[in-house]
Amino acid sequence: MKSRAEHEVVLRAIPPVKELLDHPLFQLFPVSRPFLKRIIQQEIERFRQQVVQQQLAITPESVARRLQEQITNRLRRLVSAQLTRVINATGIIAHTNLGRAPLAPAAIEAIRQLAGGYCNLEFQLASGGRGRRESNVETLLQLLTGAEAALVVNNNAAAVLLVLHALARRREVIVSRGELVEIGGSFRLPEVLQTSGARLVEIGTTNKTRLDDYRKAIGPRTAAILKVHPSNYRVVGFTQSVAIQELSPLCRNHGIPLIYDLGSGALVDLQQWQLPAEPVASRALQDGADIVTFSGDKVLGGPQAGIIIGKKAYLDKIRRHPLTRALRCDKLTYAALEATLRLYLQPESLPQHLPVLHLLTTPVEHLRQRAQTIVDTLTTRAVQARIVPSTAQMGSGALPLETIPSIAVELTPRKFSAATIARKLRQNSPPIIGYVQDEKVFLDMRTVDASELAEIIKAINRL
Ligand SMILES: *Cc1c(COP(=O)(O)O)cnc(C)c1O
Repeated sequence: MKSRAEHEVVLRAIPPVKELLDHPLFQLFPVSRPFLKRIIQQEIERFRQQVVQQQLAITPESVARRLQEQITNRLRRLVSAQLTRVINATGIIAHTNLGRAPLAPAAIEAIRQLAGGYCNLEFQLASGGRGRRESNVETLLQLLTGAEAALVVNNNAAAVLLVLHALARRREVIVSRGELVEIGGSFRLPEVLQTSGARLVEIGTTNKTRLDDYRKAIGPRTAAILKVHPSNYRVVGFTQSVAIQELSPLCRNHGIPLIYDLGSGALVDLQQWQLPAEPVASRALQDGADIVTFSGDKVLGGPQAGIIIGKKAYLDKIRRHPLTRALRCDKLTYAALEATLRLYLQPESLPQHLPVLHLLTTPVEHLRQRAQTIVDTLTTRAVQARIVPSTAQMGSGALPLETIPSIAVELTPRKFSAATIARKLRQNSPPIIGYVQDEKVFLDMRTVDASELAEIIKAINRL
């Protein structure tokens, strides 16, 4: 235990801010003096705290060098991009923490074309008058889903919030208890409803809700029935829920909208590629939903966006609501979404052009070859590698229980723990994100591009 006096000696050895400011090493960073000064002051303060709290064993002579190192490290981190490309070896295709859907080359090109200049976002080239930013995307969505109208906002959480706020504020919304879901920790349906100003009327039980439960709950204050695709879980066994086809006549008779939050929401039937079924937006409308909402960056494979499609009368009302302005997307989102939607005009060739579908449909044999390339080229003695069958997932709540066959490289540590190996891979440049199970590290090949194999091999060999 150090005495107070010893602290004092160390603290007195801290060089003055002015002296540090002129240190030649710091002048190499593209950071102006006022910001450099702020950083130096913050690092001195942090250093003081460490000394006072005795987290630092240090002699007065090494104080200056230690501070210089701290400041240099801070500057280095500051001037290099912290948001960086990673290699996704989790096998989760639309991984929310890893940025969800990789964009199609067409979408990236659309962003590149528009990002550095001006565009006709809200400008009609024919008349020279003001245009609507969503008009092109709306036309595509109408064609692809058969919807009367469409609207795009920041994400699906915003879409649900907006729809409820515009159509059901201060009134009641009926939801089955089996569909009061939480998605990703920050989207809990009861809370979204509360925030929208609508009052939640829960009906049925967790495992069973009948048409009669909905019928009995409808009253003079009912604004809508909301159905939610429970995306990330399923109650199995003794269950019952009410389909959109059954709810639609009930809503029509009472003149209230049937709102359906699809969550992931596919624009095409994934079963044509032998993939597990995911609710299709056009089908939801055909079945009688009045308003359907879904994400742009889950199965759809586009940029982050929330898509609202449905009856024109409702969409017009939503469009006029002030929240719509607050939740609107920027030109880059529209550029990427428009280009992504255009790929759906030829659904049969989606696996060639849309990364999400390409990843979902890559034959297991190709994945095995990738794994083989890794295993065959490893020279490290830190791990033992072998090829194992695994299961990939869509992620973001989509296709939750339906897994997609995949192949993984299993790394059994010979030295270090599995957690240490996983951490070392995460600290690689670029970071490689796998998962740990039973003291082994797994790298799933379904989300790894063939062009990333060399980087993976190099990282493992360096262990
Ligand atoms: C993912 C999801 C949301 C939230 O969508 P974001 O695009 O992430 O905002 C809402 N509802 C359901 C059912 C979902 O699966």
